[in-house]
Amino acid sequence: MHIKAPKDLRVSALGMAERLAGKVLVGGELVHTAHGRQFDLRDPATQDLICTVADADASDVEKAVAAARAAQPGWAKLPARDRGKRLIEGSRVLAAHAEELATLLALESGKALRTECRLEAATVADVLQFFGGLASEIKGETVPLRSGVLAYTQREPLGVVAAVLPWNVPLMLMAIKIAPALVAGNSVIVKSAEETPLAVLRAAELLNEVLPAGVLNVLSGDGVGCGAPLVAHPQVAKITFTGSVETGKLIYKSAAAKLVPVTLELGGKSPMLVLADADLDKAVAGAVVAMRFTRQGQSCTAASRILVHRSLHDAFVEKLKSAVDKLVIGDPFDEATDIGTIISRPQLDKVRGYIEQGRRAKGAIAHDCARLPAEGRLAQGFFVRPVIFTGIDNTHPVAREEIFGPVTCVMPFDSFDEAIAIANDSDFGLAASVWTRDIKVALVAVDALQAGFVQVNQAQVAGLNISYGGYKQSGLGRELTLESMLEHFTARKSVILNFD
Ligand code: NAD
Repeated sequence: MHIKAPKDLRVSALGMAERLAGKVLVGGELVHTAHGRQFDLRDPATQDLICTVADADASDVEKAVAAARAAQPGWAKLPARDRGKRLIEGSRVLAAHAEELATLLALESGKALRTECRLEAATVADVLQFFGGLASEIKGETVPLRSGVLAYTQREPLGVVAAVLPWNVPLMLMAIKIAPALVAGNSVIVKSAEETPLAVLRAAELLNEVLPAGVLNVLSGDGVGCGAPLVAHPQVAKITFTGSVETGKLIYKSAAAKLVPVTLELGGKSPMLVLADADLDKAVAGAVVAMRFTRQGQSCTAASRILVHRSLHDAFVEKLKSAVDKLVIGDPFDEATDIGTIISRPQLDKVRGYIEQGRRAKGAIAHDCARLPAEGRLAQGFFVRPVIFTGIDNTHPVAREEIFGPVTCVMPFDSFDEAIAIANDSDFGLAASVWTRDIKVALVAVDALQAGFVQVNQAQVAGLNISYGGYKQSGLGRELTLESMLEHFTARKSVILNFD
């Protein structure tokens, strides 16, 4: 690929942002909201204004629901494989625009283009292709009831689905929600996060080139003014949400009031267990990935609690610090950058608050890693140095609460049972990883860990065809597989034909 200067990449992303400014996507068209209210969107790397964004409210929700309701029956009547083919076609369109989507994402999210945004844009196309290919698996069973009657089940769409997104991986999360919902014959209204409305809106606009109007709609706005009326709307038959535990609980209440199903992917405080026999270098390299340092730790599966056998603890900390020191913090558009910015001022304040709280903890040492960018233009950016804490106890808020920043705690343990007890002593249960050369010990750990996604000798991000979701406060329901599409986006109807 021809390497463009960061300035040129930013300029082209700003041009696209200007085109999308103030718009929502309803009934196949980019339109202004009824009242025209907008809010400012700022570049987290410079605080410069990117554009203004439509601040949709309940009246826009009404329009989006009307469009989605009108489109859904016709969409559901298409043979499932035809819906799948449309998604696969959509995947091709998005793949052809992957660089454009990646630059838009880098602009609004502050995530580095090379290490994060390009991968995310490519994943979106992959997700659409995966679920598009599963369309013919939306089928029922025949039931051997008795001679002379035919008993069977069929899978039917639920209707209008609301998909509410967070800001950390907005494009990917949009894809893993809309693809199974659409293939199953539902129509969808996406509510983007306040901080990251642009890449999502552009991707949906592109998908509308291959989808019937009204099948996929996008609203932007805040949680109270737009998200809440959307999830509470009586005609919204299903809510799929990724975000904080607090908001997840509000949405669950709203769904309970009208008795509709929800999928909730919430927070995490994921443990990484490095046992005494682990390959130290592999574990250290794995921790850099596990902690998602190149995403500024803004990941629900980030290994923010690293439990290391006491015999390896000091060497592990030294090697991890040296590995993180090598990462380059800088302009998200610069090809040399590994780590971009925190998403926003409030989030930066929150991360810094935890770092300060950690520094004050008795016996704690904060190992500050890497260097902040020296470039003057970035002085206003929401950059923060990664911090590895040692001497922090699992009872401390830094070890218990989700920080959603580049902050991890390395804690020593003496026995396997102690490590499992610390790992499970958390309100969350999203992901965990175990690092050992002993498969028997690994299998005992897998059984003992209370987490929805356990990996041994790796700690990758969730991937297609592997069921994904949390235990405890980390959520309800699963995503990313055929089964999750069937369970979460269809209803099973039982039928008995009696012509005896
Ligand atoms: P958030 O809960 O603040 O917001 C998420 C979305 O919900 C936004 O679009 C927001 O506008 C909307 N919202 C807020 N209040 C609402 C309401 N009352 N009704 C309806 N919608 C409402 O989360 P965030 O800060 O954007 O994202 C960070 C959180 O997301 C972290 O806790 C992180 O762990 C979680 N997350 C989880 C996963 C996962 O797969 N489990 C993945 C990514 C992020």
